[in-house]
Amino acid sequence: MIKKQEDSNKNISTRLLDDEPVGMTVQVVRVMGDGAFRQRLLEMGFVRGAKVTVLKNAPLQDPVEYMIMGSHISLRHSEAAQVEVTDKDAEFCDMEDAFNGIVETEVAGVDPMADNVLRVVLVGNPNCGKTSLFNNVTGAKEKVGNYGGVTVDSKEGWFSIGGRKVQLVDLPGTYSLTEYSPEEMYVRTYIRDNHPDAILNIVDAGNLERNLYLTTQIMDMNIPMVVALNMWDELEKSGDKLDIEMMSRLLGARMVPLTAYNGHGVKDVLQATMAAIDESEQETMHHNVNYGPLIEDSLKELGEMCPELDRYTVLKIIENDQHAIELLNNKDDAETVKSRATELRQLIERDFNSDIVSIITDLKYGFVRGALAEALTPNPNRATGETKPGYSMDRLLTNRWLALPILLVLMWLMFEMTFTLGAYPQDWIESGIGWIGEWIGKAMPDGILKDLVIDGIIGGVGGVLVFLPQILILFFCISLLEDSGYMARAAFIVDRIMHRVGLHGKSFIPYLIGFGCGVPAIMATRTLENRRDRLVTILTVPFMSCSARLPAYLLLVAAFFTANQGLILMSIYLIGILIAALTAILLSKTILKHDKTQFVMELPPYRKPTARNATLHMWSKGKQYLQKMATIILAASIIVWALGYFPRHEGQTPQEQIENSYMGQMGKAIEPLVEPLGFNWQMGVSVLTGAAAKEIVVSTMGVLYTGESDATEESTSLKEKLQSATKPNGEHVFDPIVAYSFMLFILLYFPCIAALAAIKREAGWKWVAFEVVYTTGVAWLVSFIFYQIARMV
Ligand code: GDP
Ligand code: MG
Repeated sequence: MIKKQEDSNKNISTRLLDDEPVGMTVQVVRVMGDGAFRQRLLEMGFVRGAKVTVLKNAPLQDPVEYMIMGSHISLRHSEAAQVEVTDKDAEFCDMEDAFNGIVETEVAGVDPMADNVLRVVLVGNPNCGKTSLFNNVTGAKEKVGNYGGVTVDSKEGWFSIGGRKVQLVDLPGTYSLTEYSPEEMYVRTYIRDNHPDAILNIVDAGNLERNLYLTTQIMDMNIPMVVALNMWDELEKSGDKLDIEMMSRLLGARMVPLTAYNGHGVKDVLQATMAAIDESEQETMHHNVNYGPLIEDSLKELGEMCPELDRYTVLKIIENDQHAIELLNNKDDAETVKSRATELRQLIERDFNSDIVSIITDLKYGFVRGALAEALTPNPNRATGETKPGYSMDRLLTNRWLALPILLVLMWLMFEMTFTLGAYPQDWIESGIGWIGEWIGKAMPDGILKDLVIDGIIGGVGGVLVFLPQILILFFCISLLEDSGYMARAAFIVDRIMHRVGLHGKSFIPYLIGFGCGVPAIMATRTLENRRDRLVTILTVPFMSCSARLPAYLLLVAAFFTANQGLILMSIYLIGILIAALTAILLSKTILKHDKTQFVMELPPYRKPTARNATLHMWSKGKQYLQKMATIILAASIIVWALGYFPRHEGQTPQEQIENSYMGQMGKAIEPLVEPLGFNWQMGVSVLTGAAAKEIVVSTMGVLYTGESDATEESTSLKEKLQSATKPNGEHVFDPIVAYSFMLFILLYFPCIAALAAIKREAGWKWVAFEVVYTTGVAWLVSFIFYQIARMV
C-alpha cells in the first residue's frame, strides 16, 4: 500500500534515471522537481513502481528515449536526472494494492431535449484516433495528424442515428485534465461550459494503462461516457488479450472495440453512446474511482458544501488546482470551503506521507493497473523491455549515424519533388490560361473592361494559379510525414539543436508546417506548453519560407539560374532557417529570457499513412489556397491593376502609362529605399502589394511588366518578359544577383496579412507590431549586405 512508502523506502537504494545505461530496466521511485514538469511525468506514467526501460540516446546524444507502460517517451538528460529509480525487482510498493474498485453515486436524470440538439464530444490522448473517427462518422474533411495536438481547435460535425441528429465535436488530444497545457484547459473548460450529452472517450487499446488514466478523470465528471477501444486491430495483432466485459464491469463504463481508420465498430460505438444518453434520462448510478475511505470522506464532505460542483471539480479543489478553486469565488462561503479544502489536503498528505498530486495520480494509476491485472492478458511471448510492433523503423530513422542524413534527404526530396514533379501540371495550367486569355481577347470588345479581365484578373490570378500543383505536392508530403509518425522523430532528432537556440524539439513541427503556410504553423505552436517557447516560435515561424513565396522564387530561379535550380531554391530556405535561429537566440537572450523548457514528448508507433488522409489534407489546403486566391488575391490583383491603369492619358506608350500611374508614383517614392538592394521601382511596388499575400508579388510583376515587353518580340510568358526587361540606359534590370537579393527580401520581409492575423490571435497586437518592424528591417539589412558584397566581388 502506498501508505507504507516511508518504511519501505529505507530498505532500497535509489539512483537517478539519467545514470542508467541503455538497455537497462528500472523501477520509478519518485519524480523530483515541481509544477508542470512533474505533473506531466506523473501523467505519462512515471509513478511509483512503474518500470522504465532506457531505449536509446538521440543521434545528438540528447534527449533519450524511454519505454514506460509500453509507450515511448523522450526526456532530456536534465529531466531524467529528476527521476529517482531503483532495481526493477526491488519490492517497495505494490500498485495493485491501491485498487479499491469503484464507488457509485446517484446522479439525477437529465432531459436531453433541453436544448434540442444532442452533443457528443470526443476526448482522448493525442494520436488515439479521434480525428479518424470524427472523419469516418461525419464525413468531414478534417486533417488527421500523427503528432500530439495537431488538432488544436475543436472541429464540429454532424451525424444522424435512429432518426436523431447529433453534433460531434473533435476536441484536442490530451493526456490529462489538469491545468498545465492549453489543450487540457480547453477540453476542461469546453466540457464544463457546454455540458455535452455524452463523452466518447477514445483510448488506444494497445496502451490502456496510460490511456485509461484520462478515463478515470472523465469518470469523475459525472457525464454519460462510452470508452471506445480504438486500434483494436493493433491489439489483436500484438497477441494481447482483453476481456472487455470484465474490464467494463471493473471500471463501471461501457467499452466498445473500434478500428477507426477502417470503420470497424463505428456503428456499435455510436449505438452505445446513444444508449448511454438514453439511460441518463432516468436517475442513474454513476461509477467513480474509489480512492479509499479517507479521500472518499473528504470528497463527500466538500461535495456537500458545494452541491453545484461535480466530483471532478471537488477533487481538483482538494488537489489545490487554481482553476477549480476560482470556481468557488462567487460563493458566499468561499473562504470556508477553501480553508476546509486545505485542511483536508494536509490531512491526506500526512496520512499518505506524500504530496497530493502524487497521491491522486498513484491512486488513479493503481486503479487502472488493478483492473488491467484482471482483464488484460499480455502476450506471453513478449519479454519486459521489448518494444511493441510499430517501432522497428526507429532502428534506421533515429539511428545514431543515419538519422540526420535521412532527415536532410527527406526534406531535400520533398522540395525537389515539389520543384520537378510540379512542373508538368504547371505547364498544362499555363497553356490553359493562355488559351482562355486568347479566347476572351477575341470575344470581348476593346475597352477598360477587356483590359481589366485580361490584364487584371487573368494576368494576376493566373500567374498565381499555376503554382497550385506545387503547393498541393508540398502539403501532400507534409501530411505523409505527420501521419506516419515521423514528425515526432524529427522533433526527437533535432531537439538538441532547437535547444541550442532556446527552443523545444516540438517547435520543429510548426517550423516544418511553416514551409507550407505560416497560419496553421502559428496555430500549431499551441502544442508548446511554455508561453515563452510559443512566443519565440510564433515570431520566428514567418522566416520559414511558406508556399506563397514559392511562386516568386520559382519564377526568378527559372528565369535567371540555369544550373543547380534545386540548390539555389534550397539555399533560400536554409537562409530563412538561419535567420530564424539567430532571431530565436536573440529573443532568448533579450526580451524573452529563458525559464527552463522541458522536453517530455511521446513517440507514437509508426503507422502506415493512408493515401486518403494525405489527399484529404492536400485538398483542404488546396481549397484554402484557392479561396485565398478568389478573395484576397483577386481583390489585390484588381487594385494593383487599377493603380497601374489610372490615371489614363491619351497617346502614351504602355511603359509611360505605368510609369505615370498611381502605382508608378508610389514605386518611385520608395525607390530610394530599395535602390541599395538592387531593386527598381517595379520591384518596390511588387513588394508593397505583396504585403497582402506574398503570391501577389508575382501577380503584380505580371501586371507591371505587361506593357514592357519588346514590341517585336512575341514573348508571352512573364519569365521571358523579366529576362528581357531593360533599364532606361539599356542594361538588363535583372541578373542573378538582383534576382537573389530580391528573393532574400521576399523571404524575410513582412509576413502576410493572414499570418499577422494569426499572430494577433495567439500573441496580441504588441507582437504584431514588433513582427512587422523586425522582419522588414531584417529583410532590408540582409538584402543590402548581400547585394553590396555580391556587386563588389
Ligand atoms: P487523433 O490525434 O486522436 O486525432 O488521432 P488521428 O485520428 O489523427 O490518428 C492518429 C493515427 O492513428 C493516424 O495515422 C491514423 O491513421 C491512425 N489510426 C487511427 N485509428 C486507427 C485504428 O483503428 N487502427 C490503426 N492501426 N491505426 C489507426
Ligand atoms: Mg486529431
